[in-house]
Amino acid sequence: MSPDLTSLIELQRIDTIIGEARRAVAAHPARLDAMDQRLSAATQAVQVAKDRLQACQDARRVLEKEAAVFQGRLSKYREQLPSVKTNREYQAMQKEIEVAEQELGAVEEKVLESMVEADGLAADVKAAESALAAERQDLDREKAALQEEFSKTTATLEAALRARADLIPGMSATAVALFEQVARVRKGIAVSEATRDGLCTECHVRLRPQVFQLVRQNDSIMQCDSCRRILYYVPPPPAEQPDASAASPS
Ligand SMILES: [Zn+2]
Repeated sequence: MSPDLTSLIELQRIDTIIGEARRAVAAHPARLDAMDQRLSAATQAVQVAKDRLQACQDARRVLEKEAAVFQGRLSKYREQLPSVKTNREYQAMQKEIEVAEQELGAVEEKVLESMVEADGLAADVKAAESALAAERQDLDREKAALQEEFSKTTATLEAALRARADLIPGMSATAVALFEQVARVRKGIAVSEATRDGLCTECHVRLRPQVFQLVRQNDSIMQCDSCRRILYYVPPPPAEQPDASAASPS
């Protein structure tokens, strides 16, 4: 294989690593943000549950005050009852007492309902708090893993950049220029393997027989007529795999 072609294949391998590493580095802040958003969503869910419980308790205190007012009125009527003079007054007072009892009963019922509701809301708060604690644990673990992955990616990127810087000076200027030119318009993929059937792996277009013939020799820089990528060929292994023939059904 021509030394330039060998270097071009290597350059493509390095650039693919660099491209992937850079995309991962660029995506890193968004991945961290997504984790922070999960935490704030869980935190907010706790706050919402606590606010509901608080509102329910506040409403109950209002009801309890109302109940105390009705209770006070009722006690006053009952105290006054023995001192009324006429039957008519007595009946009127009885009527007042009846109304006050009904009002008190209605409020007390609401207080009970509110207590039952508060039990449910308190359970919601506990559930939201457990969910937050679980989410926090998950996120701690995921963040540590992400951080480790990020460090590895950064190290890989640095190593690939060093390897690229070492490789380029040994290549011909025309080979490097051609690579850069094709890579620019082909999303960073400037080198493509020709398949055994004579197709360009990247654009899937069939190579002309005379082009394929030259590509198979791997000793000159040939480009795909369709996508302009630099082509190379990996010959089949010299002998059939004995395992493969033994495993065949015939
Ligand atoms: Zn092609």
